[in-house]
Amino acid sequence: MTKTIKENHYDYLVIGGGSGGIASANRAGMHGAKVALIEANDLGGTCVNLGCVPKKIMWHVSEMMEELDLYAADYGVELSEAPKLDFKRMAENRRTFIEYLHTAYKKGLDSNSVELIKGYATFVDESTVEVNGKQYTADHILLATGGKPKRPDIPGSEFGIVSDGVFDLNELPKRVAVVGGGYIGVEMSGIFHGFKADTHLFIRKPMPLYGFDSIICEGFTELAEAEGKHVHTNKSVKEVKENQDGSYTMYFEDGSTHETDLILWATGRTPNTENLNLEVTKVNLYPGGYIETDQYQNTTAENIYAIGDVTGRVELTPVAIAAGRRLSERVFNGKKDLYLDYNTIPTVFFTHPPIGTVGMTEEQAKDEYGDNAIKVYTSKFTSMHSSITKNKQKSYMKLVCLGEDEQVIGLHGIGRGMDELLQGFAVAIKMGATKADFDDTVAIHPTAAEEFVTMR
Ligand SMILES: Cc1cc2nc3c(=O)[nH]c(=O)nc-3n(C[C@H](O)[C@H](O)[C@H](O)COP(=O)(O)OP(=O)(O)OC[C@H]3O[C@@H](n4cnc5c(N)ncnc54)[C@H](O)[C@@H]3O)c2cc1C
Repeated sequence: MTKTIKENHYDYLVIGGGSGGIASANRAGMHGAKVALIEANDLGGTCVNLGCVPKKIMWHVSEMMEELDLYAADYGVELSEAPKLDFKRMAENRRTFIEYLHTAYKKGLDSNSVELIKGYATFVDESTVEVNGKQYTADHILLATGGKPKRPDIPGSEFGIVSDGVFDLNELPKRVAVVGGGYIGVEMSGIFHGFKADTHLFIRKPMPLYGFDSIICEGFTELAEAEGKHVHTNKSVKEVKENQDGSYTMYFEDGSTHETDLILWATGRTPNTENLNLEVTKVNLYPGGYIETDQYQNTTAENIYAIGDVTGRVELTPVAIAAGRRLSERVFNGKKDLYLDYNTIPTVFFTHPPIGTVGMTEEQAKDEYGDNAIKVYTSKFTSMHSSITKNKQKSYMKLVCLGEDEQVIGLHGIGRGMDELLQGFAVAIKMGATKADFDDTVAIHPTAAEEFVTMR
């Protein structure tokens, strides 16, 4: 049967022009599919506009400030006055860079003949979506609508900002309270501390980064204490009240209070599924609104797929990109069995110093295989970077090995350089490297990375 070619009919309609949607649309376009990408806001989604990119720029600034404040003098680098941050200039330069990225992404779409439709998409039926009153049909539809930050359900949570608001700030508040012990909370509190705001991190659980390997939680806590960062554990905010001078008082379950100029709620994210009119489709949602998908990113509705944060799997940009590209290879390039393996995904938290983690934690590995099957190697040392300075900064590293041949199934660390060294080790772990393979690799000296190939 020949298909009728309609103007508003596409091979592939992608809803959401963030990390995953752009990658999948481009890959499908590369293979000759007729593709349209629907985006309600700026191209690039969370990562480019409200996540990885502006956050990493601020992390670099914060690193620079700490470097000058804590280490420069002992290296003999003299500063005529203490480093001062021009927050406004930093924010302006950051925005200029992000505008450049918008243009670059648009060029990428153009080069793959992907049409950009600006507006908010809602489903009309399983193969039709509506944007600004106009209907579009497609053989295949991708949901890549990402997520958004959520505030806690307590009185006064309307005061303060969520992570999106960090990138609207034009001035540095004197006092910042960050609520939440996940990666956004620990990263943002580190950034504000480096900027020299009086920063306090409030965590509900007994330790930050709960669920990560114990060496990460221990390292993060010890480093915070050593560097005078205020990390408050077992602290649940009950209520917030605004004071007459515009500051806020936070009231905690344990009866204590805290006064601050800015509250940043880093208290979780929620998927963008509620306004898509998914009710007219067979797409099933998990509790919390995440889209159910199988390993091939198929939803429960035929020819409708979902990738990225909206699926509630590992919420990282490269994961959304990898899933989106594999999906397009499968649907538009005949690679029928291609899917993303969600195991052994490396990730970095841009704390000061950074955290890197890939594979199983010691605790997960022992639960899964039993204590006797697991051997752990650890190293705690002062990195050479602070060897001649009064401020000493420790690094913490761990290898988790399985069975007699000691296959390395987990690698975790917090310390200078962890962000850049992790990627290469992740390749080795993905390939099934053993501790003997690590030992057989000649070290690079003097680096932090060499610790991982010299552990005893
Ligand atoms: C503060 C912060 C820091 C982060 N740092 C990192 C990091 O360092 N490294 C990392 O890997 N990840 C990081 N992430 C996570 C990363 O940003 C996300 O995992 C990634 O952006 C997910 O991509 P996505 O394509 O699933 O969705 P998104 O990038 O969120 O894109 C979804 C897009 O869909 C659009 N949209 C939604 N609904 C509709 C609709 N109905 N019609 C049209 N358009 C719609 C939205 O406007 C948005 O542009 C960070 C996130 C945050 C919040």
